[in-house]
Amino acid sequence: MIHMQDTEVFICTSPLRKYEHCIVEKYKWVEKHLGPEFVERIILTRDKTVVSADLLFDDKDTIRGAELNPSWEHVLFTCCHNRHVQLQAPRRRLLSWADDWKAILESKRRQHK
Ligand SMILES: [Mg+2]
Repeated sequence: MIHMQDTEVFICTSPLRKYEHCIVEKYKWVEKHLGPEFVERIILTRDKTVVSADLLFDDKDTIRGAELNPSWEHVLFTCCHNRHVQLQAPRRRLLSWADDWKAILESKRRQHK
């Protein structure tokens, strides 16, 4: 995704309230599994609603914060704790990174034209 034209990818992640180890662990995980260029793209926040974006892929079923109308569309990333959640239309899911995330990006581009 990071190599796609007109696409900026960021890792938006919330530290635990007990943050002592968690923040370093997150940075190390991103560097190890995604590479140093992604470390530059970490957004660390307890409130994802104030971050501006077109799409947010996240496994948390409900994301709330100070901004009641976040700029992004939340695409629920399926995992064990949310697979039984029934989404209300027009909310949508990504089943895994093997699922068609490109189609979701393309549909977003079309909405912007
Ligand atoms: Mg999460």
